[in-house]
Amino acid sequence: MTDPAPCPFCSSANIKLFIGLSEIHDGEVHCENCGATSGNHPTEAEALAAWSARTVHNDLVGALKACHAQFNFYATEHRNAGKHEKAATNQRFADLCADALTRATGAAS
Ligand SMILES: [Zn+2]
Repeated sequence: MTDPAPCPFCSSANIKLFIGLSEIHDGEVHCENCGATSGNHPTEAEALAAWSARTVHNDLVGALKACHAQFNFYATEHRNAGKHEKAATNQRFADLCADALTRATGAAS
């Protein structure tokens, strides 16, 4: 079994995996630094998968935010330079990123 990934929220490597503590806590990954958890899962493997999914989700949201900012920047630059076709292309990608961020996080950012 692989070790749990670092915490997706605080980056701590102080991560513990709890198994079989009770009928409720069959498998749970817990960050000892900030208290984030995978939630309770029936098995160790499912708890680790849920923890990893949170990490991947946060990585994707971070990448989308960076792309959104970059495309917005170039849309503005091209618009200000009178390059309307390039501005429109960059704006289209910025809007795609914004829509994906809204779906991924439940809020525009
Ligand atoms: Zn944490």
